Amino acid sequence: MAEKDGHAKDFVAAHHEAGHAVGAYMLGVPTKVVYIEADGSGEGDWKPALTIGEIRKHGLWPEYAICGELGRTVERMLFGSSDSRFCDDDQDVIDRLLLTFLPDRGEREKFKAKLPQLAEDVTRRPFFFESVKAVAQELLKGERLDNTGVKAVIEEASRKRGRI
Ligand SMILES: [Zn+2]
Repeated sequence: MAEKDGHAKDFVAAHHEAGHAVGAYMLGVPTKVVYIEADGSGEGDWKPALTIGEIRKHGLWPEYAICGELGRTVERMLFGSSDSRFCDDDQDVIDRLLLTFLPDRGEREKFKAKLPQLAEDVTRRPFFFESVKAVAQELLKGERLDNTGVKAVIEEASRKRGRI
């Protein structure tokens, strides 16, 4: 694949990370931080504000797995393809999570097969893509958002559409 320039990589990265964060907000998984690097490298991250113990306590592992999937779902839906750079890391996180919470291999494989569809279902919620675009814009400005910041951007994006 041809090397993309820094700006284009950041643009994709911002939407990928925003996909994780908006999905997390909609699924009740608190965000610790979401950002893209300021150096044009197209690197970034979304981190949930949950420990493994809290995920277990609240039974949030399916939601967490869906959040992990949503970066590449958003990339695919907005840009037609997803960049393996991020997606390999996301897959590692999902695989480790499922190993912890679904020890049975058959159940794990069944859940993994359903995961892309579960993630796509989240993208059909009201204001999902409006919110992703609004969060991505903030990330491209260099903002690092925590859960309160993500919530504020999503609420603002939804208000602009005049439906809440
Ligand atoms: Zn990701």
